[in-house]
Amino acid sequence: MDNHQHNIIIVGSGIVGMTLALMLSKQKCKVAILDKNSKKKLLELKDLRTSALSQGSSRILKEISLWDKIKKKAQPISEINVSEGTNINDLNFKSESLNEGPLGYIVDNTYLKTTIFKEILESNFIKFFGGVNIKDIKKKNGSSVVLSNKGNFSAPLVVGADGRNSKMRFFANIKSFFFDYNQTAFVFNISHTLSHQSKALERFFPSGPLALLPMQNNNKKSSSVVWTVDSQFKKKLMERKNFNNEFEKKYAKAFGRITKISKPVAYDLNVISCYEHFKERIVLVGDACQAIHPIAGQGLNLGLRDSYHLANIISEGLKLGLDVGSAYVLRDYSSKRLIDKNLLVQATHRLNQLFSNNSMIVKIIRENGLKIFNKSDYLKKKSMMFAMGLMKFDF
Ligand SMILES: Cc1cc2nc3c(=O)[nH]c(=O)nc-3n(C[C@H](O)[C@H](O)[C@H](O)COP(=O)(O)OP(=O)(O)OC[C@H]3O[C@@H](n4cnc5c(N)ncnc54)[C@H](O)[C@@H]3O)c2cc1C
Repeated sequence: MDNHQHNIIIVGSGIVGMTLALMLSKQKCKVAILDKNSKKKLLELKDLRTSALSQGSSRILKEISLWDKIKKKAQPISEINVSEGTNINDLNFKSESLNEGPLGYIVDNTYLKTTIFKEILESNFIKFFGGVNIKDIKKKNGSSVVLSNKGNFSAPLVVGADGRNSKMRFFANIKSFFFDYNQTAFVFNISHTLSHQSKALERFFPSGPLALLPMQNNNKKSSSVVWTVDSQFKKKLMERKNFNNEFEKKYAKAFGRITKISKPVAYDLNVISCYEHFKERIVLVGDACQAIHPIAGQGLNLGLRDSYHLANIISEGLKLGLDVGSAYVLRDYSSKRLIDKNLLVQATHRLNQLFSNNSMIVKIIRENGLKIFNKSDYLKKKSMMFAMGLMKFDF
């Protein structure tokens, strides 16, 4: 069996792992990226979802020289309307109130993944290994050794970027908090008769939130939908006819009549949040470390910030001749990520609880809360900066 020696091994060729690899390659760091899927499968993989990328994420993608390519197919968001049910204008966020460009961008996930993956395949510093089945990880002479069906890979540090069901988390024996929301997110696209005018809508219903995200295609007359429902309500939607009827009630002609609804894809929702970021030469990033509720469309943005900070700490460590797999270096990473991660895990968890509550009193508090919030420019600007990924937590 081959023995591959690298500066860093990344397990998981998702958007977070690939971004980290590209950031490291810019610093001439030799990276091996391993995925359970083959190259062919990753190039052909379809992900119907879109991602709401924050301004901060667009800046990270700019650092790896990919933003110009991605931007061409990204729909900027100029306004976000948040409401209790189908109310109009409970809470509005407008990009013009800050001087930071659009509030975010909606990007097709398949396009995003394949664009980044093609860059990985072209890099001189990154070696991609597909169809890898990892059997174990051993520690030997200041290295982590990944034992797999494709040989042994060793490096001072292994990064687990292998998503919410992370095997690396298991190998590192990192414990995590888990909570099952008993909710399902249905993801699909719609075409409508009116333009969305670059607006995103987030409507909160007791059965779960509904997000309409503007898409670039079809002359701005298409939106991507993330409709979250609790398990009780889900039963009502088993038949496609009921599904469409219930959705149309909640959509309430927001952008005119619906002319097309694509087949929904279902994601069961839970939160996983690790108590530690690293252990013995294995560090976790992205969903492997924290997989949050999609209520605010922030999971990927958070993961990209993990990649950004870890890449900087590794590059700096390598320049100084430090052991980048040591606790000394990784503690620095962990403390830089702690607040951002915990804030988002808590905020998405609490928001979901608050807005999925049926009680009349909670409903009144919610409605009034949104209106009061809407009147405070200070609170709105602070929360926009947070959602746009422009708040600094690395004290
Ligand atoms: C319905 C829904 C909507 C969302 N919308 C948004 C949004 O608008 N904005 C946003 O910021 N976030 C959003 N998210 C969250 C976002 O999708 C995730 O946070 C993000 O995809 C995580 O990326 P990742 O690279 O960490 O993990 P993944 O995308 O899960 O990638 C993991 C990679 O690791 C590989 N892998 C897995 N196991 C192994 C193994 N054992 N060995 C080798 N390789 C392995 C996989 O093949 C894959 O390539 C949403 C999530 C959901 C469920």
